[in-house]
Amino acid sequence: MILVFKAGSSREQVTHAEERLREIGLEPHTLLGVERTVIAAVGDERVTTAEQLASIPGVEKVLPILAPYKLASRELIPTPTTFTIGGDSEVKPCATRVTFGGSFIPVVAGPCSVEGRSQLLEVAHAVKEAGASALRAGAFKPRTSPYQFQGLAEEGLEYLAEAREATGLPIITEVLTPSDVPLVAKYADCLQIGTRNMQNFLLLRACGQVKNPVLLKRGMSATLEEYLLAAEYVLTGGNKRVMLCERGIRTFENYVRNTFALAVIPALKEKTHLPILADPSHGTGVRSLVPAMTRASVACGADGILIEVHPNPEKAMTDGAQTLSVKDFEKLMKECRAVAQAIGRSM
Ligand code: PEP
Ligand code: MN
Repeated sequence: MILVFKAGSSREQVTHAEERLREIGLEPHTLLGVERTVIAAVGDERVTTAEQLASIPGVEKVLPILAPYKLASRELIPTPTTFTIGGDSEVKPCATRVTFGGSFIPVVAGPCSVEGRSQLLEVAHAVKEAGASALRAGAFKPRTSPYQFQGLAEEGLEYLAEAREATGLPIITEVLTPSDVPLVAKYADCLQIGTRNMQNFLLLRACGQVKNPVLLKRGMSATLEEYLLAAEYVLTGGNKRVMLCERGIRTFENYVRNTFALAVIPALKEKTHLPILADPSHGTGVRSLVPAMTRASVACGADGILIEVHPNPEKAMTDGAQTLSVKDFEKLMKECRAVAQAIGRSM
């Protein structure tokens, strides 16, 4: 339920309403607007009625939030959310701040995995030079087979921190388990939750408890509603910096690794205020298809691009078949800037 306060209502009235809601058994999420304050009262609404809430002093009206996700919905927050990653004192202040959700479209680039110090530093400098805004690489890798390379773990996080120090690029890296959240949060400017973990509710809750922003990928078989409910888990924990990322879904089709569901980007934009990224690398799994699908992602309104780049894709330890060389990436950046400009945005 959304409680809309009368213009000019006092801070005391808002605090009183928050206390009342907690007493009833609902969690208040307060949005202090310039003109008006609203409180999203989330939880099991059967504990109260709209009439009861409307009688709280200062409340002008009570509106239902019809979507099953509340904090993620456009019904509660009608305008797009923008937030920055990087430069947080909780992590490392040295990274440049990058805004997601605005008219500038940041590109998050890097190799699938951190393979070693020199590989990571080389690619970090190269993607920065080409115009990337953030560096992404996995230190903890979710692999289909236990015999495959599992990532360098904390050693990889150290190299990521060094690459940030050297380039100023904020770093995004995946966290696989709730117990690893404190460790990864110590290094990362933004925590990635991968497709296989989109419905790992304990991990979602753990990421809701930290200050680091979260990049939540769409589960490979998740519906739009399930996806937004997963984001809701992080948001209800108090972490409001959540961005989404379409990375392709499983279908009967097998000429590509995944079916890149581009229409979900404008569809999500209708339903949520959160920034939405596109990942054409995992979305296709095929290097030759990545440039076209990246340009299409920009054209259809993605708020950011995630792309895999390696100094020598042929030698990549993971996801080489979908990874661009630095040269391909530089070319693609130029093409995407032209597409962005055509739709009134920049890259
Ligand atoms: C990745 O980003 O390298 C990755 C493992 O992604 P996804 O979770 O989308 O498969
Ligand atoms: Mn990958």
